[in-house]
Amino acid sequence: MAKDNKYDVLIIGAGPAGYVGAIRASQLGKKTALIDKRWIGGVCLNVGCIPSKSLLKNAEIARTLREKGREFGFSFDNLKLDYARAQKRSRQTSSRLTRGVEFLLKKNGVDVYTGTARLSSKNSVVVTNKDNSTTELTGADLIIATGASPNLIPGVEIDGQRVITYHDAILQESLPASAVIIGSGAIGVEFATIWNAYGVEVTIVEMLPSLVPLEDREIGEELEKSFQRSKIKVLTGHRMEDIQHRGEQLEIKVSGPEDEKTLTADQALIAIGFHPSTDGLGLEDLGVELNQRGGVIVDQRMATNIPGIWAAGDVTDKLMLAHVGSAQGIVCAENIAGADTVVLDYDFMPRATYSHPQIASFGWTEDQVQDQGLDYTVGRFPFQANGKALGLGDYRGWIKIISRADNGEILGAHCIGPEVTELLPELTLAYQEGIPIQRIARNVHAHPTLSEAIMEAAHDAAGHPIHT
Ligand code: FAD
Repeated sequence: MAKDNKYDVLIIGAGPAGYVGAIRASQLGKKTALIDKRWIGGVCLNVGCIPSKSLLKNAEIARTLREKGREFGFSFDNLKLDYARAQKRSRQTSSRLTRGVEFLLKKNGVDVYTGTARLSSKNSVVVTNKDNSTTELTGADLIIATGASPNLIPGVEIDGQRVITYHDAILQESLPASAVIIGSGAIGVEFATIWNAYGVEVTIVEMLPSLVPLEDREIGEELEKSFQRSKIKVLTGHRMEDIQHRGEQLEIKVSGPEDEKTLTADQALIAIGFHPSTDGLGLEDLGVELNQRGGVIVDQRMATNIPGIWAAGDVTDKLMLAHVGSAQGIVCAENIAGADTVVLDYDFMPRATYSHPQIASFGWTEDQVQDQGLDYTVGRFPFQANGKALGLGDYRGWIKIISRADNGEILGAHCIGPEVTELLPELTLAYQEGIPIQRIARNVHAHPTLSEAIMEAAHDAAGHPIHT
């Protein structure tokens, strides 16, 4: 059927926030169009969450073969790790998923436009198509879901070969012999994990005192121990000052509390966070309020200060995670349609980092709980006492659950170890439903599973540890 350019809901950006919001809006009876300048699935499906997880699976196998061959009883005369094949597999994983999303959009009756969108009024968008022609679309409600862009360092030019961002790192088909990663957030430590497994000499430079600085302090300490065991060099408390090209190599000057160092490497990955992408959308002309980083300010309904203009995902500068964006997209569509919905609690969203070992957390860190002066209990359990982890040969790490001392309400959970990113939903649901930690201890978990570690930490918090 021909598109008639008039919609109830127009969404700019087809990442996890935009495409999920589009499906939900359409399900609620809204005639919906989704516009993206590049692709369906946004950063996450094309060059972020999904291809990186595919590379991480290859890295896990490579690590097992390289480091655990003797323990597992595999031997090779000449083990060859073909990174180009791993990269190709990651592209296939990505396109398989984006094709699935294209199908879902079609099934749900969402019209998709490819082109760069700019708001021409609070109810209309001009789309510049690939051939430079333009199409004007109108919508009673507009959702901005344009995502985020990597922060850069003034004076440091990204050449896409030697000095790169995540985008080049995901798409490159070969690896350098040595690399310096600037920044130890999720992206920095995930690439450190992949590259190290493939034998790249990796140094990670972090300005703050610990790795993954937004996590509970003990998580950063544990990750640092693991990285050092894997021979990833860690320079915390060090600031990158300068990068110079010296022939085929880079010289990277870093300063620490006591000294300055010059590191040499084939490649430098700049992974120092993201800022919302709002340039060129015309939001300021319409009076849409932005924060200092250019993020669209929204209320709990995902509405901006201009009636009819809404936003969801990384562009709102809340928690820049795909599942948070999707949850925002759903809430946004439901509010537009006047349907039943929820209010999102950003402090208690699950957070996942796919380093080795993996990290998963939600709620407050122990420092944050202490700052609030709360009386609390910590329940712990190490994976080395978990039968499944021992069988997997992957038993570094632990579970730490913080709960209120008086009533067992969960205040935060901090997990590092095998597949811990799969373990949070039980705890986040318990938090939402007000189920105390004592009841998690009584929730019988199948044996042997990694999830038993959650139950055991809960037993510990309840004062009757079983396997420690
Ligand atoms: P995006 O996915 O960035 O999508 C925005 C879309 O808007 C893009 O497709 C863009 O082309 C389009 N757009 C922008 N401007 C315009 C315009 N003017 N006109 C038309 N279209 C426009 N998160 C997790 O939760 N788990 C992970 O494991 C994880 N891993 C990651 C790994 C990497 C390497 C990276 C880089 C990110 C990772 N993230 C992860 C973060 C995740 O990718 C983002 O949080 C998520 O993509 C945000 O979704 P979004 O819909 O807000 O924006």
